[in-house]
Amino acid sequence: MLCAAMAIATPTDFASPPPKTASKTDIVETVDKLRATFESGVTRPAEWRVTQLRQLYRMIEDEESKILSALKSDLGKCAAEGFIGETNMVMGEVKVLLSNVRRWMRPRTVSAPLTVQPAKAKIHPEPLGVALIISPWNYPFQLAIAPLAGAISAGNCAAVKPSEVAPATSAVIAELCRKYLDQSAVAIIEGGVPETTALLEQRFDHIFYTGNGTVGRIVMQAAAKHLTPVVLELGGKSPCIIDRDVNLEVAARRIAWGKFFNAGQTCVAPDYLLVHEAVKKPFLDKLAEVIREFYGDDPQKSPDYPRIGNARHHKRLCALLDSGKVFVGGQTDVNDRYIAPTVLTDVSPDSAAMQDEIFGPILPVLTISSLDEAVRFVNDRDKPLALYVFSNDADRAQTVIDGTSSGGGCVNDCVMHLAPHELPFGGVGPSGMGAYHGKASFECFTHMKGVLHKPFYLDAPLRYPPYTDDKMKWVKRLS
Ligand code: NAD
Repeated sequence: MLCAAMAIATPTDFASPPPKTASKTDIVETVDKLRATFESGVTRPAEWRVTQLRQLYRMIEDEESKILSALKSDLGKCAAEGFIGETNMVMGEVKVLLSNVRRWMRPRTVSAPLTVQPAKAKIHPEPLGVALIISPWNYPFQLAIAPLAGAISAGNCAAVKPSEVAPATSAVIAELCRKYLDQSAVAIIEGGVPETTALLEQRFDHIFYTGNGTVGRIVMQAAAKHLTPVVLELGGKSPCIIDRDVNLEVAARRIAWGKFFNAGQTCVAPDYLLVHEAVKKPFLDKLAEVIREFYGDDPQKSPDYPRIGNARHHKRLCALLDSGKVFVGGQTDVNDRYIAPTVLTDVSPDSAAMQDEIFGPILPVLTISSLDEAVRFVNDRDKPLALYVFSNDADRAQTVIDGTSSGGGCVNDCVMHLAPHELPFGGVGPSGMGAYHGKASFECFTHMKGVLHKPFYLDAPLRYPPYTDDKMKWVKRLS
């Protein structure tokens, strides 16, 4: 599968043209067209949903090399990381939706109390309507197409706005969706802030936004105008706690992979480490060893190590390197948008690196003397998108999970909680609201309509006035 991507661009192909943009009139017309399609009812039947999901799957299967090439061009992402973190991830999601959508969309009978009998209480899952999906640049394919698969599975029309910061992937998404999907129901609108702003002025039935919290607030404000429900998939500083008793080698490997995959530009990457003082030295030595094993003595020459999304983020990240003592890495090259996998020690909680989400390959290490101290440290800050705890003692790890709040996380691993399709994925508090993946994706774009179905026979007079004592006695007895 990966061989298909051999003819991909080099990491220096960074000068992709900006995405084609849509005018405000185009946007209004597109949304009107999507609404007309939705109102025609064509997207509701299972057949339409299944056909479109199959087409989405085929699109990725047939065009994988094109997608991986665009990812390489935008982010210097190697074929393996493009496959693991983008195409394969979406194909897995589409497969789960395809296998279950007919069952999930069926009305489900639930129990009804004696007071309403004879009757049937049913949940009728219905599509929300026209959804807007706004996606970011770090996993530019996955984060546009996985929510789209959810919207389609639930029988919605959708406008997708890929990130302008990943222009090659944005163009490929537009080209392929036009080629493979029902164009009357799915529209790709390329562009940046002006186009997103124009889109947000329209009325949608659902907005699914992935990106930073500042824009998340803009999205929520725009949604409030039409009382449109939102899912916000945001970020934050995801802590990684290392207890005094762990398998140092495995922990170091899993943490280095979770942090430096996609050069740290992963919303659920461990943002910083809280390491127990008893294992700090041997753990850091192992971490340095593992980074060398993964990327060699000069990671800039490694074919597996990606680049930073754009010059602005490169500059922002370089400014964080002064936040501590460089234990590993520290090298940068602005022309190549390169920052080495970097581990910083002697980091103060007040330093620049410990203020906002790092979103890059810089890992600050802080020392703790107990898990209680780690829990207090985490709870003094915003609720993170993910929390990781490494411990040989399951009870001690559980104490951390129970004592903190986060969108999700792992015990003894990083990032891999995104793999099981039955785990809903989303943030809590400032790291987001709502969730998706697997059944949660279907539910996130569905309204669960509760309907009570009554026959005409047996119309018990108990609920009708006049409310006599006798009637009330019976109502109480039957309730
Ligand atoms: P980005 O710059 O690509 O922005 C995301 C989207 O918002 C883009 O489509 C962009 O056009 C639009 N946008 C930007 N500014 C806007 C404005 N002023 N008004 C309207 N729309 C605007 O991506 P980003 O925000 O830099 O993405 C990185 C952030 O996203 C990180 O904080 C990361 O943690 C978070 N993230 C979260 C998840 C998740 O699933 N929870 C996944 C990936 C990234």
